[in-house]
Amino acid sequence: MKVIGTAGHVDHGKSTLVEALTGTHPDRLKEEREREMTIDLGFAWLTLPNGEEVGIVDVPGHRDFIENMLAGVGGIDAALFVIAADEGVMPQTREHLAILDILQVQGGVVALTKIDLIDDQDWLSMVEEDVRQALAGTVLSKAPIVPVSARKRTGLERLLSELSEVLAKTPQRSDLGRPRLPIDRVFTIAGFGTVVTGTLSDGSLRVGDEVEIMPARLRGRVRGLQTHKKKEDVALPGSRTAVNISGVTVDQVRRGNVVAHPRDYNPTSRMDVRFRLLPEASQPIRHNSQVKLFIGSDELVARVRLLGIEELQPGDEGWLQLELNKPVVAVRGDRYILRRPSPGETLGGGIVVDAQPKGRHRRFSDDTLARLEALAQGTPADLLMQALTMIGVGPFKEVIARTNLDAAQAEIALDELRASRQIIFLEAGGDPAIQTPDSLVTSRGYLEQLSTRVIQEVEHYHQANPLRRGMPREELKSRIKASSRLFAALIARLVAEEALQENGPLVLQPGYEIHFSPDQERAISKLMRRFESAGFAPPSVKESQSEVGEAVYAALVDLGKLVQVSADVVFSKDGYDRMVTEILRLFDANGSLSAAQVRDHFNTSRRYVLALLEHLDAAGLTVREGDVRRRKT
Ligand code: GDP
Repeated sequence: MKVIGTAGHVDHGKSTLVEALTGTHPDRLKEEREREMTIDLGFAWLTLPNGEEVGIVDVPGHRDFIENMLAGVGGIDAALFVIAADEGVMPQTREHLAILDILQVQGGVVALTKIDLIDDQDWLSMVEEDVRQALAGTVLSKAPIVPVSARKRTGLERLLSELSEVLAKTPQRSDLGRPRLPIDRVFTIAGFGTVVTGTLSDGSLRVGDEVEIMPARLRGRVRGLQTHKKKEDVALPGSRTAVNISGVTVDQVRRGNVVAHPRDYNPTSRMDVRFRLLPEASQPIRHNSQVKLFIGSDELVARVRLLGIEELQPGDEGWLQLELNKPVVAVRGDRYILRRPSPGETLGGGIVVDAQPKGRHRRFSDDTLARLEALAQGTPADLLMQALTMIGVGPFKEVIARTNLDAAQAEIALDELRASRQIIFLEAGGDPAIQTPDSLVTSRGYLEQLSTRVIQEVEHYHQANPLRRGMPREELKSRIKASSRLFAALIARLVAEEALQENGPLVLQPGYEIHFSPDQERAISKLMRRFESAGFAPPSVKESQSEVGEAVYAALVDLGKLVQVSADVVFSKDGYDRMVTEILRLFDANGSLSAAQVRDHFNTSRRYVLALLEHLDAAGLTVREGDVRRRKT
């Protein structure tokens, strides 16, 4: 489920537009939801022309825009940026735009609203021109500008179709296997107990999950989940979610806390960040100044340590270390905003580069600055993935060697990537306990490609050789051109996943069976009858092949219906079993016997008996000593 957030100057018509689009005025949401007996998720819902449902976070009246923009670490997928055509770009328009930019909101649509108030087309063109200029260089630089009137309901269709297009281009929320829900509201529902709402990111939550309320690490359990208007067993990343939690009381939880699985996250009271002071900021930022930090759904007080510069000027970027007045949950890559406490002013923001720095950094340290620079270029996880992409598959230590990461950083990144199944250990069923630096790793994408190729090769083999039970392992290996080690690991994985089946030296599609044509079936029956009536002097390999054809003959051997014991001697399975049992019984009764004695017993020709005895020698069941043989002990 995608989420849109509205932004724009107060009174420019955001709520009216949301109401026109959704039929719900945001201020009335709560009571309507109460009437419907579903939980008020603080959202309005919009159905796009293609039927897709989209959540809208609106900021009615004067409620704090930033708090809402940040609600949920993942924030919003796209912005509905509202500018009134009669007033045009205002200071708050620019501030909100700057914030969308800091948060790197993926896309958006500009609604140039209240056009029913404009008679003068030139004015409208002028305002549009202004808007274009304001958008230049921001995340919304390419956003479509759609003139609308919420009051007259004009332009709404085009607005929806533009939103639809923009949303289609925004990426799906990633599932890193470690869900977190920054709480934006806490309340109780009679008979249920504590309910929290937020936008879920980085993983899924399930009913029954044990959870931790961070940073206090209070343990509780997910008793119920609701997304949109429905009760769910699972909530997916990106969903607006209400969680009913048992084991915690409402007064133990507050806005800004985070619901996560136990031990997935560590709270932090200090972080290294990249920061940009907005060009519109009224003053420079000084070392040690106090600011308000907005991150996730939390708001706290932080002290700024300016690491590489005395004073940061408006429009400039720099490295800060933030000392927080209380612990929060944050990870590398999270976006944040800083504001001046009073008079209230948005200063700027940026991205968390290290959420768990080892300590206080000395200012102006070249080492520290270089390390932060390197981290910003790419996280250890990024670097590992880049290296892995270069080699495709290889021993883990080789991947690390390409990154210049130290062992500790690599270890952390590895855990992260393994949790999100981006790096896959190929051997030992991926069991982390038995992995070493020599273990073979690959990326999920590369593994999928390789697996598809292997499966296709086997499929093609079946098509080209319908009378073969499976593809010889060695033939498959040479087609894939993989090392023995990689090949063995791949086949083991595919067999474990039941994508392939193994049968001795053959690899086959699960459940693949040879199907003979009616003509072939008839020839086979005829041949088998010959074997039955021939007793211990069956048809030769050549005769059998000319009866059914070479391919069908090979299939019968493959299927074990015929047992070929030498270049020209073959028995039916039954005949073979009877003869072997009988021969072994003879040896047990007589100790040692010559080939002639065995032949006489069966009253058959020497050719069959010799071939069979040599076959038994080779199988290690009998052993030859001069002219006689005996059972091998
Ligand atoms: P918000 O603060 O951005 O949510 O703005 P509102 O939606 O509360 O609208 C502010 C004022 O503008 C209200 O008086 C609305 O009736 C009015 N308004 C909103 N949209 C339109 C429109 O399309 N045309 C006209 N003429 N007035 C509008």
